[in-house]
Amino acid sequence: MDALFRKLGMDRPITRRDFLNGMAVTAASTQIPGNGLMAQTAAGTAPADIGRTTENYPPLRSGLRGNYPTSISEFENLRTGKYKAFPVPAAEITESYDLVVVGGGISGLSAAHFYRKALGEDQRILILDNQDDIGGHAKRNQFDHAGKTYLGFGGTMAIATPYPYSYGAKALLKELGIEVSRYPEFINHELETNYKLGSAMFFDKEHFGADRVVPGLGRTPWKDFFAKAPLSEAAQRDLVRLHGKNPDYMVGMAVEEKKAKLAKMSYQDYLLHVAKMDAGALPVFLGDGERNNKRVDTLPALEAAEHGSIGFNGLGLKLEETYNEGSFFFHFPDGNASVARLLVSRLVPAALPGEPTMNTIVGSTLDYSKLDVEGSSVRIRLSSPVVRVKHEGSPESATLVNIAYRQNGKLHAVRAHNCILACYNRLIPYLVPEIPEKQKEALFYPVKVPMVYTNVLLKRWTPFVKLGVSRFSSPGMFYPHAQLDPGTTVGGYSGVGTPEEPILVHMMANPNKPGLPRKEQNRAGQQELLSASFEKFELDVRQQLDRMLAGTDFNPAKDILAITVNRWPYGYAYTYDSLADPEVPLEERPHILGRHRFGLISIANSDAGAAAFTNQAMDEANRAVEELLVRQGLT
Ligand SMILES: Cc1cc2nc3c(=O)[nH]c(=O)nc-3n(C[C@H](O)[C@H](O)[C@H](O)COP(=O)(O)OP(=O)(O)OC[C@H]3O[C@@H](n4cnc5c(N)ncnc54)[C@H](O)[C@@H]3O)c2cc1C
Repeated sequence: MDALFRKLGMDRPITRRDFLNGMAVTAASTQIPGNGLMAQTAAGTAPADIGRTTENYPPLRSGLRGNYPTSISEFENLRTGKYKAFPVPAAEITESYDLVVVGGGISGLSAAHFYRKALGEDQRILILDNQDDIGGHAKRNQFDHAGKTYLGFGGTMAIATPYPYSYGAKALLKELGIEVSRYPEFINHELETNYKLGSAMFFDKEHFGADRVVPGLGRTPWKDFFAKAPLSEAAQRDLVRLHGKNPDYMVGMAVEEKKAKLAKMSYQDYLLHVAKMDAGALPVFLGDGERNNKRVDTLPALEAAEHGSIGFNGLGLKLEETYNEGSFFFHFPDGNASVARLLVSRLVPAALPGEPTMNTIVGSTLDYSKLDVEGSSVRIRLSSPVVRVKHEGSPESATLVNIAYRQNGKLHAVRAHNCILACYNRLIPYLVPEIPEKQKEALFYPVKVPMVYTNVLLKRWTPFVKLGVSRFSSPGMFYPHAQLDPGTTVGGYSGVGTPEEPILVHMMANPNKPGLPRKEQNRAGQQELLSASFEKFELDVRQQLDRMLAGTDFNPAKDILAITVNRWPYGYAYTYDSLADPEVPLEERPHILGRHRFGLISIANSDAGAAAFTNQAMDEANRAVEELLVRQGLT
């Protein structure tokens, strides 16, 4: 084992941090000089060098990020009712605000923005968040190495959604200076054009009997592609059939009858029992996350058909264009962290001065020391988990609400005229136990989707060039998706240099337990993420890259420079589907029942929209603000 660990580089001093019982332990150099982006961005976009270090610049922090242990350490206390009685005496509360927002993700930041737009910039607003960085899921991962900066997305990757952006969400993006239609100008095609890299499937020996990379995924005719795969002849034949023009497997049924049946069966059942696919082909569909951790066994067949999955084109379903993800797309190198940072630049200009736009935000350095400054109309207080929210008096007649939070081990509280909860729906009944029982039940309904986005800084990518691969699909492995940084050039940044230079590899996983109902799979995945050490994630990364890049000169011990694991046990908002959720009228859906305003408290965040996307986070913020305004008679 020791020899294997050494071969993989588990003993190497890379940039990582491990956590023992919730305490961060620095395992290698984390003090990084902070002028990297200047070296790489176009002239004019360079930030002032404020001496960025891991101490003062959270995006540089490596190791275990996302819902990292100390950020969620109060969650268990909340669940066990530790703060049922408001934990700070009223007489000790001296700070007060017009609005307190719990949660500094896209939804919380948008809520503050909308509130100021409605009532003026002199409104005093405090945003409290339990993490040490802004943006919630929209997180920036930054690696400064040898004078250059490499940017990755730690969560929310892009402005993109299967549902149309609302007028309000589009208008907000425009206000922030983001011109979504200009994205094609910033796509870097170098990997495909200069190096002829494309997608490959990696078949692993656990599921397919042999480790094998088959390049040309999506480019080679399916017959030739699957002929190279370690699959039986029957499995190959059926996969080729399903990828081609299919016969009508439900012949004799009317279209509506077909749709009704497909809505009530899983994609797996459709493939095996309706399309009669050989069971040996099933592992190819493992890890095919589709949307919201709906796997081949939990994804309704009708939804698979609407997504354009294989096997349905002979059924004559006449599907409307429900999903049009490609139509509204914009990817910043750090994902929607740039959207969050643009919002912060408008809320707290001192932290990101100069009203940055989409072109300048990528190269801007956020001054975290300016986020929570006395005298600023908006303050953002990080590393401050909120533990209790309670009206002064009865919710119907109260004019003030108190908000308790913990910071640096101490309990504090502030007072506000209004409060918006833009955190996680399932926490709200613990934060506000006075909420009616029926509403609590509705708030407890969703189980967020567990996700992992890991960024690995590699010393070079010649092994990828040798294989002709920039993107792996690896069904059944811990990370079913891995890809070289797409190298988006917005803001003059480019993460792609020559193959001998460093690059980021993004690896993505949705832990789950096939066979269980979807919510149970989500719970199992959450537990898996919460109990795994950084070392376990690191080992997975090293082993998987070593296996996928076998036969090249890839050396995991020497080529891996840094690893940041963004584990999100509380990832995507839960969305409904026709297999797992009862059919009820829209107004009786749990997210609608759960998000009712309660006195001076209204509820934002994407859970409240039962849709896991940035536009939803903005729309729910808009609604939550609107509710507070209407309550004040400001219609
Ligand atoms: C890995 C990943 C990839 C994604 N990719 C995309 C994408 O490409 N495009 C897209 O549109 N959407 C994507 N999403 C969905 C994403 O959830 C939304 O786009 C959006 O960022 C959600 O914003 P939010 O503010 O509603 O929630 P969050 O971002 O979760 O913000 C909630 C905030 O509340 C904080 N909080 C929780 N409890 C407390 C407490 N007690 N006290 C204080 N603060 C608290 C949380 O830590 C967090 O900062 C992705 C999500 C994940 C996890």
